Amino acid sequence: MNARLLLCAVVLVGAVGIVAGCAGPQGQAFMDNIGGVEGLMKNIKQATGTIQEPEEIEMGEGITETLLGARPMVNDPEVQRYVNFVGAWVAAQSDRPNLPWHFAVNDSDHVNAFAAPGGYIIVTKGMMNLLQNEAELAGVLGHEIGHVVRKHHLNAIRKGAYMNLLGAGAAGATAGSRGGELVNALVGPTKELYSRGLDKDDEFDADRIGVVLATRAGYDPWGLAAALQTLAKIKADDKYMALLFKTHPNPSDRLDKLGTAMGTTFDRFNDRPQNADRFQRAVAKIRMVAAN
Ligand SMILES: [Zn+2]
Repeated sequence: MNARLLLCAVVLVGAVGIVAGCAGPQGQAFMDNIGGVEGLMKNIKQATGTIQEPEEIEMGEGITETLLGARPMVNDPEVQRYVNFVGAWVAAQSDRPNLPWHFAVNDSDHVNAFAAPGGYIIVTKGMMNLLQNEAELAGVLGHEIGHVVRKHHLNAIRKGAYMNLLGAGAAGATAGSRGGELVNALVGPTKELYSRGLDKDDEFDADRIGVVLATRAGYDPWGLAAALQTLAKIKADDKYMALLFKTHPNPSDRLDKLGTAMGTTFDRFNDRPQNADRFQRAVAKIRMVAAN
């Protein structure tokens, strides 16, 4: 699990808290495994080369383990099953239906959702508490699925790593070399990405994809817009919103763009279900677990 070791040094600042670094035996194992990421680094150095799907999945798994290391999953298999049931169905409508999609609710009061390459999606307990129904959840998960399908994180990490390697004048960054600069080239951009966020255009793109996927999955297409309306009403200085507002464009801007993109095209799907009851039962379960 080279990617996991590689990424154990990632420090995610903000809602996900601080993750321990690579000190001690784990760090040694990490250094011992650098050789295993050489193929990936070669691709990064080439920049035009694509990262193969198994490597993408491995990278996403490592990032997700780091995220969940900071904030573990809500301890209720039923809740996790529910979010996987909804998420997998929405993801099945995407252009990458065969990725090993995983969805999880983590035990964080911050309002947020994360995607990692390869099909890993985390939605926070705080976000679940804010949403009203399953159509909204489908829209939010659809947005995150959109990031994975379009490889937004993967490409941003690759671009950042490439720039780092260029900046370091990394003559040694070829297959067969071993060195800290290779590791830093990937870890830095990953850390920065999850605290600073993607480009705004990637976010607007993910919003549009989220609506399309939720609609294809049979939900009310206005779920994501409704969720954004709720977010737009929350004060920007709310501490539980800080990371979401830092990493995403303003909810009002997203609503404007989404409204323009949706136009009247989706009006014929207005009678689609929202599944509020089923969603509220899952959220009640999360609250019960949290209270114990
Ligand atoms: Zn996003």
